[in-house]
Amino acid sequence: MNKTLPFLFLFSLLLTGCAREPQAVTQQFFAMDTSMSITAYGADAAGAITAAQQEVFRLDALWSRTRPESDVSRLNDRAGDGAAVAVAPDTALLLMDANAAALESALAFDPVLAPVMDAWGFGSADTETKAVHRVPAPQELRALLPLTRDLPTASLSGDGASASASLPLPGQALDLGAIAKGAAAGHVMESLAENGVDSALISLGGNISAVGMRPGGTPFRVAVKDPRQAGSYLCVFSLAPGKTCSTSGGYERFFEENGRTYHHIIDPATGYPAESGLLSATVVSENGAWADAWSTALFVQGPEQALEFWRSGEGAAGLLDLVLVAGDGHVYVTEGLEEDFDFQGEEAGYRYEIVRR
Ligand code: AMP
Ligand code: MG
Repeated sequence: MNKTLPFLFLFSLLLTGCAREPQAVTQQFFAMDTSMSITAYGADAAGAITAAQQEVFRLDALWSRTRPESDVSRLNDRAGDGAAVAVAPDTALLLMDANAAALESALAFDPVLAPVMDAWGFGSADTETKAVHRVPAPQELRALLPLTRDLPTASLSGDGASASASLPLPGQALDLGAIAKGAAAGHVMESLAENGVDSALISLGGNISAVGMRPGGTPFRVAVKDPRQAGSYLCVFSLAPGKTCSTSGGYERFFEENGRTYHHIIDPATGYPAESGLLSATVVSENGAWADAWSTALFVQGPEQALEFWRSGEGAAGLLDLVLVAGDGHVYVTEGLEEDFDFQGEEAGYRYEIVRR
């Protein structure tokens, strides 16, 4: 099952009828195993969206696990053979971001979880291979865990024009599903801006990015889903220009077996779906790859560690804002989102707290 869009476009589409405001152009498409859409405003919107879409297709061709010629497939095929594989500079940069998130999160985010994901039938490859969701035997998971945690190497030439990468251990495989779409969102923002767009809302499978403001000069607004109630929203807030908002939640992809639910975000320490006390983790960042990687990492770490990390203000933590939805109904919202924040979760039994540094 593909990830559904975890946010609503709020208000942005209502503007199209207003004569003095620029026409909105919206394109929906499918890439990176999920549905995507771009809405842009202004005279150059249609052409710019087409160019941005081509950029997503280019990145998908580099980062796909199912296409044999992709950088990721070629790295996975040569895992452990000691050779540095030539990859696109964008792939090396993505791996560097992934490694940074992995190290900073004490491996709550792990870019080489593919063998474990495949054992659960959650591999990014599952739509192609029709893999069946299943609960792996404990000994099967124990045998796969040594293939995780050893991070890829990645290097760029001095002029940034060429790059190479490798996986240290035989049998290892990359799964960049927790970071690639957010990284792609960053590329789309740049591409739209280069093509003359100064107002757009981008939605790449759970990663929402704002280029500029809405026509008329107010910020775009995004909503966080109620993880327990499809179609309901817990809160709405303004997404500042240039920011990406990513949500990770167990409700996005899961299966049931013998009355238990198993979701697709795995705790790399155990090989089992993370049970950290969070129903969802939303991260807002000016770096799309970080928003995506950290939403996954903080979902794995849980509310206490996530808030401790945010309060430290160190490294990426200083640049992120969070909405953490805990299983006990508590919603933690960091202070950067306080302005223009509307909470709608009371009736469903949620309550929120603005968290300060
Ligand atoms: P996201 O929706 O961004 O949280 O990404 C979830 C996807 O990332 C899963 O479908 C897996 O492909 C992969 N994944 C699951 N758990 C982890 C993890 N702990 N670290 C990195 N990637 C993960
Ligand atoms: Mg993610």
